[in-house]
Amino acid sequence: MIKKGMRRQIVLHYILVVFVALLLVETIFLLAIRTYYYDSIYSKITTQMSVAENFAKFSDERSGSQIKRLFELFYLENTELEILTLKGDIITSSTGFQPDRTITTSDVPEAVGGGIGRWVGRQAGTNESVMAVSKMVQIDAHDTYVLRYVTSMEGVNADLINLTLLSIAIGVAVLSIVLVFSFGLANSIVRPLNIITAVSAQMAEGKFSTRIKGKYQYELGELASTLNYMAEEIVRSNQIKDDFISSISHELRTPLTSIKGWSETLVSGGYDPEETKLGVGIISKESDRLIGLVEEILDFSKLQQNEMKLSMGRVDIKVLLQETLLNIWAKAEKKRIHLLLECEEILFTKGDANRLKQVFLNLVDNAVKFSPEDSSIVLSAQPLSDTEMAVIVRDSGIGISPAHLTRVRDRFFQVDSLNGGTGLGLAISQQIVELHHGKLELDSELGKGTQVTVILPLDDTPETPMNT
Ligand code: ADP
Repeated sequence: MIKKGMRRQIVLHYILVVFVALLLVETIFLLAIRTYYYDSIYSKITTQMSVAENFAKFSDERSGSQIKRLFELFYLENTELEILTLKGDIITSSTGFQPDRTITTSDVPEAVGGGIGRWVGRQAGTNESVMAVSKMVQIDAHDTYVLRYVTSMEGVNADLINLTLLSIAIGVAVLSIVLVFSFGLANSIVRPLNIITAVSAQMAEGKFSTRIKGKYQYELGELASTLNYMAEEIVRSNQIKDDFISSISHELRTPLTSIKGWSETLVSGGYDPEETKLGVGIISKESDRLIGLVEEILDFSKLQQNEMKLSMGRVDIKVLLQETLLNIWAKAEKKRIHLLLECEEILFTKGDANRLKQVFLNLVDNAVKFSPEDSSIVLSAQPLSDTEMAVIVRDSGIGISPAHLTRVRDRFFQVDSLNGGTGLGLAISQQIVELHHGKLELDSELGKGTQVTVILPLDDTPETPMNT
């Protein structure tokens, strides 16, 4: 007995379909053969009967000798010829044996009715299977009798039984072959499935280093490679998560250490107002840094849950970029980096000015962070078409390798976690830009510099600009 499951389902379905098909074909075949056998015997008898009828019609002999001649001329081998009265009483028979009996089978009344009577059944007394064919004939021009041929069907039936047995044997052989094949087919599906299930169970237990080995075809191949891909992605995002936790802990620790150190120092007292001012200033700056970090994480989680609400308005891009540069000026100054703004036209977009500023601040902040001292960063804005504009941040910093370029927009990804930051900046920027129906594109060459292009829709409705 096959265990419950797909293998059994496949085998059972195959066997059932082939069994029904075989049953139908063999039944139709055997019925056709039987009909053919029976019809050919019937047609042989009816042909003989027509000739006998014509002979009787045109013969001018007396009825007694006519009947004798009929027996001589129209006798069929292995067939009994009988002459009956219209009531079915046997007058004479080719066997010579004339039982005093009346034929009551349906062929006689059919013949008396004017047609050719045909009856197939078991003969009373002998219990032999026979076919009887009867027809009315006129003998001696005025006497009407029934001419009846009775032939045994035992031989034909025996042939039919042999044929049936042969068909059953062929059917069993075909079913056995199908059984073997369907087992093979079921195994070719079920075995890989079992392997895939076992490996995915291991993955479900957290063993993401396991992989589905071997080559599978078609849908099974796709399933195996999808599961392997899923495991790789889980490993990758776990790695990113671990990196994030370690970098965020580092990022939180540095300002906290500084805050703690200065607060302890100030609590111990005895410092002049200048020193106290310096300490409090550091505490305030580091607290701002911590707030910024926490806000970035909160923003990201809002974006992830589609909960970021935009307060939309008409935004003057030039004003927004000027504000951005003002915010970052001090940081750039420390590395003697020149910040240049190229924006000749007045460009408006519809959006949330604060969120868009957050995007540009992040991009320029990255540019400053990854540029060498005494370099320049260009911030430019220009129309692209009647409906779009591009804001470009270009630096000549360390650049990003092609392999990393595809991943820098992934959340928590950082080429080097020692650079500070969370790896969330570009992920957040991209999502904010997309919320504004725009696009964020990155071009970079390692060692040469990076260019980030933000494409935003133009707003050309004649309204008064609304800016922060
Ligand atoms: P963060 O700046 O907090 O690390 P981002 O998502 O803004 O996170 O940037 C992800 C990574 O992309 C950075 O860590 C850095 O490796 C790389 N990157 C981003 N902008 C630049 C740039 N202008 N030049 C070189 N590398 C960059």
